[in-house]
Amino acid sequence: MNLAPTKLTDEERNLQTEVRAFLDERLPPGTYPLGLGMAGDVDPDFSRDLAAQGWVGMALPTEYGGGGRTAVERQIVVEELLTRGAPIGFHWTADRQSGLNILHNGTEEQRRELLPGIARGEYSFAIGMSEPDAGSDLASLRSKAVREGNTWHVNGTKIWTSGAATATHILGLFRTSDDRHGGMTQFIIPAGTPGMRISPIPFIDGTQHFCEVVFDDLQLSDAARLGEVGAGWGQNTSELALERGGVDRWMSLMPILERWATTETVRDSAAAQIDLGRILARLWAYRGMSLSIARLVDAGRFPVVEAALVKEMATQFEQESLALVRRHYGRAPSLNSADPWEALLAQAILVAPSWTLRGGTTEILRSVISKGLVQR
Ligand SMILES: Cc1cc2nc3c(=O)[nH]c(=O)nc-3n(C[C@H](O)[C@H](O)[C@H](O)COP(=O)(O)OP(=O)(O)OC[C@H]3O[C@@H](n4cnc5c(N)ncnc54)[C@H](O)[C@@H]3O)c2cc1C
Repeated sequence: MNLAPTKLTDEERNLQTEVRAFLDERLPPGTYPLGLGMAGDVDPDFSRDLAAQGWVGMALPTEYGGGGRTAVERQIVVEELLTRGAPIGFHWTADRQSGLNILHNGTEEQRRELLPGIARGEYSFAIGMSEPDAGSDLASLRSKAVREGNTWHVNGTKIWTSGAATATHILGLFRTSDDRHGGMTQFIIPAGTPGMRISPIPFIDGTQHFCEVVFDDLQLSDAARLGEVGAGWGQNTSELALERGGVDRWMSLMPILERWATTETVRDSAAAQIDLGRILARLWAYRGMSLSIARLVDAGRFPVVEAALVKEMATQFEQESLALVRRHYGRAPSLNSADPWEALLAQAILVAPSWTLRGGTTEILRSVISKGLVQR
């Protein structure tokens, strides 16, 4: 495995400056609910405004309304958004993975219908993979799609579906035959399709992004199928690789770190300065690794193992960094504090255990990494 060091070019730095200027204007501090990285607030207006700048769907080809930009350029935009705790929840999943999945596996009709809406920031996707008895062991999922003529009948339950209540589409993985890995197929289900019941599962911090989605004889035409019947496992695995490599996996804490670095706690304490230095050094290293992964993607490679490695290390780093900030803070922060930063710190403490779960648990990633390295 070789993650070659890389730097931003002058053009890439110009993009960074442009994004910063736009966000200074569009998101002045105190005018929006601060979010923890990719768990940022859902704000369709902000998603559309960002899209109008050409910064949603950047990786999609221009013929489908996308930006035709590089993975590095997308990372530059993403870094700026996450650093500010921006309200990116509405477009996030579609921008990061569903659009590319549709581009690679969809029919021409699906591409023409869905990709421009994603690039305009108008479509919001939720991903229905996990089930009550199939999380890490996704191949044991039981929700079924059964074909009768041109109609698929969908039954079963999905769980932990982030953003399902506000999504315009759910991209779900369903069992279409008994073949363990070869018997799963993906379907694109528009919100409001009869036969779908979405209930929020209140998260530990009081938010309601998490959902249970029950399908009760939901009927879909064959045009809703994404890719070949039985190709769902491979498509889903490729999508997970897109989910794991990016900076969004480990930049949850940025608004907290930025503010903490300027507080008295750090100014007046040598021990806190040493810890801040340690955090920054590691942050810079992970940032370099994610950038190298983006360069590999731009060179046409598919760095699945590298992405899993960064997620495994960097999500634990996030939790360790939070533990340090919390220790130096010296008292229990309140979720109801009038200071949005303190409330965000309290929220982070509550949800931090989920950072090493979402997108694949640490144990599962270790298995992906070790198998990948043995095969090289
Ligand atoms: C914030 C958050 C957002 C999420 N959003 C979504 C979403 O939008 N869509 C979606 O489909 N899912 C989502 N998930 C679900 C997430 O992907 C699953 O929680 C995850 O895959 C683990 O599944 P599980 O919770 O069923 O745990 P289990 O699979 O029951 O695992 C429990 C523990 O056992 C370990 N374990 C399991 N199998 C093995 C093994 N073979 N070897 C070693 N250890 C093992 C796991 O690592 C874990 O520590 C989300 C989860 C979180 C926390």
